[in-house]
Amino acid sequence: MELEQILENLKNELKDINDEHSLNEIKTKYLGKKGSITGLSAKIKDLSIEEKKTFGASLNKLKNEVNDLINGKKQEIEANILNEKLSKESIDITLPAVDLPVGAPSILEKLIEEVEELLISMGYDVIDGPEIELDKYNFEMLNLPKGHPARDAQDTFYVQDEELLLRSQTSPVQIRCMLEAQGKKPVRMICPCKTYRRDDDDATHSHQFMQIEGLLVDENISLSDLKGTFDVIAKHLFGEDSKTRFRPSYYPFTEPSVEMDISCHHCKGKGCSICKNTGWITVAGGGMVHPNVLNNCGYDPKKWSGFAFGFGAERLAMLKYNIDDLRVFYTNDLRESKTFDRKEASL
Ligand SMILES: [Zn+2]
Repeated sequence: MELEQILENLKNELKDINDEHSLNEIKTKYLGKKGSITGLSAKIKDLSIEEKKTFGASLNKLKNEVNDLINGKKQEIEANILNEKLSKESIDITLPAVDLPVGAPSILEKLIEEVEELLISMGYDVIDGPEIELDKYNFEMLNLPKGHPARDAQDTFYVQDEELLLRSQTSPVQIRCMLEAQGKKPVRMICPCKTYRRDDDDATHSHQFMQIEGLLVDENISLSDLKGTFDVIAKHLFGEDSKTRFRPSYYPFTEPSVEMDISCHHCKGKGCSICKNTGWITVAGGGMVHPNVLNNCGYDPKKWSGFAFGFGAERLAMLKYNIDDLRVFYTNDLRESKTFDRKEASL
């Protein structure tokens, strides 16, 4: 067969090919062990020396041309496959995007972080302690010996016996901090933590709630230091025009003890349903650390004094974001979180 003819045949066959499998078959047909070009190479040995030279050169030229044609076709097929894939998978960027559900941060966590950041800037450390606590730290060392009537106000979950309980307040963390400092150095801590009481859950009560507890022990600390600190917190959370006041109260672990009120941020003190027409809302309790508590923790009350305060985090969040049911903090309803997020954005 004439060499030119082989090349022509190959060109014709390649015209109709558009897949790699068929191309490989053609490659075998021409260049494989039993292929037509391989067959021609075998004939060289029967030729004269002169003929070998010319035929050999022509055959090499043909082989190169055949290879080029097949490789060219291979690239063409690969490009076609790629283009087809790209056109199938193309994205229409003008289509409207799918509206994916997006969550929102817990409003309670946000409020706690806000208080934490403020108090950290005032030199306080954020401390946590065990949720399962000893009666000794939760009550006894806080001037609440067994049988003390004030224990009744904190209906407690006992874990095993009367020595181990789910902490009913964050105050045991104060005890742990003071014990660690061994009566030797000042303490400045806040503890925003979970607490537990045997309350029936309703719009304003929960068996689990967050307290934000603060303690400062140093030399020459007075009640006016607590008032100043409370003032800063109130203004930070409820606006610069917030006013604060103390009313006498009773807690076993502070002396004197105070209820801490802020001016109603809804009616600006004029009187509304939220403040029960008093213009004031109670948000915290506190006072000067009782000398017995200081003594219990190794602090000499003649040298050291301190104040402590405690907020209900849920109550603060409810007031700030105008939420009327405490249970929404624990139901994980995304719609509520989103609503709070919008309220936050509009504040
Ligand atoms: Zn009001």
